[in-house]
Amino acid sequence: MPELRKDPVLSRWVIISTERAKRPHDYKKEPEPKSGGTCAFCPGNESMTPSEIMAYREEGSQPNDSKWFLRVIPNKFPALKIEGELEREGEGIYDKMTGVGAHEVIIETTKHDETLSTMSVAQFENVLWAYKQRTEDLKRDDRLRYVMVFKNHGFRAGASLEHSHSQLIALPIIPKTVMEELDGSKDYYHYKERCIFCDVVKQEIRDGVRVVAENTDYIVLCPFAARFPFEMWVMPKQHQSAFEDIKTPDVALLAQLFSDVLKRLRVGMGDPAYNFFLHNSAFTDSNIPYYHWHFEIVPRITRTAGFERGTGFYINPTPPEDSAKFLRDLELAG
Ligand code: ZN
Ligand code: ZN
Repeated sequence: MPELRKDPVLSRWVIISTERAKRPHDYKKEPEPKSGGTCAFCPGNESMTPSEIMAYREEGSQPNDSKWFLRVIPNKFPALKIEGELEREGEGIYDKMTGVGAHEVIIETTKHDETLSTMSVAQFENVLWAYKQRTEDLKRDDRLRYVMVFKNHGFRAGASLEHSHSQLIALPIIPKTVMEELDGSKDYYHYKERCIFCDVVKQEIRDGVRVVAENTDYIVLCPFAARFPFEMWVMPKQHQSAFEDIKTPDVALLAQLFSDVLKRLRVGMGDPAYNFFLHNSAFTDSNIPYYHWHFEIVPRITRTAGFERGTGFYINPTPPEDSAKFLRDLELAG
């Protein structure tokens, strides 16, 4: 059973993994990107993966057969386990709890070589539907407080399989980064009685210099204090604190814009590795006036080194205004 341990100074939780347990000598060789061989995520190879949790399939097809459009499966090497009681325990001055949670993989497409930036907008929409439906389902488990939906694209971003997929990890705690955002936006709200994210959206539309793309309901911008070149935030223009509350027509509009900016990143920067993750309100308090869900897209173009690791302080060599202008001005064919 994996274990969650709390840093006594920072109150930051760490997952001490058992499923992925490695002995010290296992780290001597850098893992190589896997290529070739049989892909467990391609249609026809469903028996190579754990049984699916959910799938969008052709009418009349059966769970785990090959007639699907999108599949959600448990991670074969989960960071946390869905079975078991959530038990909190002290160990001297330290705090720990059992590693209860969910770790799932969303296989985004049947096509081995397709990615989020090359698939149809309709298929991208399916991916967003899967994020929403899995979040709604996990929210019903009262041991869990947060679900982190994330994507690793490219080996440098941590993807170990080529076939396009995203992941989610549902947690019994609220992660520190999200907690800091929640606390910061709550302070702003108490002071101004406005949502900071709504204010950011309004000002960015007015200024225009950091906007990459927008449609009627969504906006993508390079944040004012961007940590990385081409860092982007994808946000709803209207206030919404819980991503899973997104409505039917909105999913299509979000897919259209999200797909557009990932295309811009691929075409403009030569398909760089990137991560994105969803920052959402917590299950325990999801309908709130001060927090606003958003996806953060973080390209892996620069390498973070000692200074960043030691300080949590980033040096960004490209002003976000330049990143935004470059991506905004790109001509996308087709
Ligand atoms: Zn494949
Ligand atoms: Zn808002």
